Amino acid sequence: MKIKILGCGPSYGMPSLSRGFGSCDPVNPKNTRTRSSLLLETGKTNILFDSDPEIRLQLLRAGRPNIDAVIYTHAHYDHMGGADDLRAFLNEHHLRLPVYLTDHDEHHFKEQMQYLIKPSEAQSDKPTFVLHKINAYEPFTINGDVQIMPILQYHGEDLSMGYRIGDFAYSTDVKRMDPKGFELLKGIKTWVLGVVTTQENNKHIHLEEALRWIDLIKPTQVYLTHMGARMDYETLCNQLPLYIRPAYDGMEIEL
Ligand SMILES: [Zn+2]
Repeated sequence: MKIKILGCGPSYGMPSLSRGFGSCDPVNPKNTRTRSSLLLETGKTNILFDSDPEIRLQLLRAGRPNIDAVIYTHAHYDHMGGADDLRAFLNEHHLRLPVYLTDHDEHHFKEQMQYLIKPSEAQSDKPTFVLHKINAYEPFTINGDVQIMPILQYHGEDLSMGYRIGDFAYSTDVKRMDPKGFELLKGIKTWVLGVVTTQENNKHIHLEEALRWIDLIKPTQVYLTHMGARMDYETLCNQLPLYIRPAYDGMEIEL
């Protein structure tokens, strides 16, 4: 299996309209970050995690891979705002695109994409998204190939979902998890973990909390994602042990 970090930026992107590069070095291209999304390639199945507002450009940069299914972490704009671009995967070869999301997020997705989800009877052969509802801690399988465990996350006053697939887990936009979530993450080797900032924050874990979580879960390798204006690439590389690295847009990781 292989993962591609399509984007590893925060909700406002890097540089942002409000703060520019903040304390990050503008000269280092690894500090230019599009909104966070990730592609998992098993060799047989390509799964896209989230369709952020820059998904079209990210997938062009990744060589226009086919997408077999989309899984959402949650319905915030920086994770679902590019849903309309997924129309590209509805064509004569690909009439149905499976989309996996929670009951709550389905509501938001339908609001945005109504015209593609419910074709009229006269257009019953129209390509469409096929929505699959997922529930925390209830594993599901895609293509009979990949088993995925959704892990409930608390993201400020909202909820989000983390995912474990084999030895790999993707946990972004998370501030808290239930003890069961931590239990389910034990034994992973590769962890892509969302850490927005070095400062205490009520919606996301900050760097210090992330280090405590990493110490608890003990993965072999961690890649930080969803990084904001205080997360300079080179500073983090110098400060963190080798098994914890900041990700960058376009990064590929063999699992
Ligand atoms: Zn986010």
